[in-house]
Amino acid sequence: MNIELIKGDITKIEGDAIVNAANSSLLGGGGVDGAIHRAGGKQILEECMAIRNRQGKCKTGEAIVTTGGNLPAKYVIHTVGPVWNGDEEKGSKLLANCYIKSLKLAESLDVKTIAFPNISTGIYRFPKELAAKIAIDEVRNFKSEIIEKVVFVCFDDENEAIYNEFLKEIR
Ligand code: ADP
Repeated sequence: MNIELIKGDITKIEGDAIVNAANSSLLGGGGVDGAIHRAGGKQILEECMAIRNRQGKCKTGEAIVTTGGNLPAKYVIHTVGPVWNGDEEKGSKLLANCYIKSLKLAESLDVKTIAFPNISTGIYRFPKELAAKIAIDEVRNFKSEIIEKVVFVCFDDENEAIYNEFLKEIR
């Protein structure tokens, strides 16, 4: 899989799928979640509510999918990142699961291109360097015959600098 880094707003990304850093209620929230629901329109929320009614809340580290509503992306994969509480081992495992479960779900939908935000590094306060390391490691370890491109969409300067540094190291 090709790995790319983009600085910007994930709601503007075209392609098969974008990932949302959702919360377990699936009913929208702040940060990237709010931006995706605002730009994507009410269809995404309605689909989230239907999923919630069927299977309950989305657990941390799990992922569900809706269409992209009014977004240029075809699908939104909603995954729930861990809230940082200082437990590095547990938090790291849960964050890794977000990437793995999202990629597996994407494969099941025959997704060729997928864009990730920097899950958990906003309101959920996960240390940015550790989060970037986990994100990059999980994507690199995920061998896919289906997904061709993974884009890391960094919104803030700090994450962009961290991803640039780590991706430079592996190139
Ligand atoms: P979490 O609750 O998982 O921490 P946040 O949305 O608060 O989720 O933050 C996750 C990351 O998403 C942060 O790095 C934040 O800068 C970034 N972000 C916020 N808005 C957008 C956006 N429109 N596109 C891409 N990334 C965004």
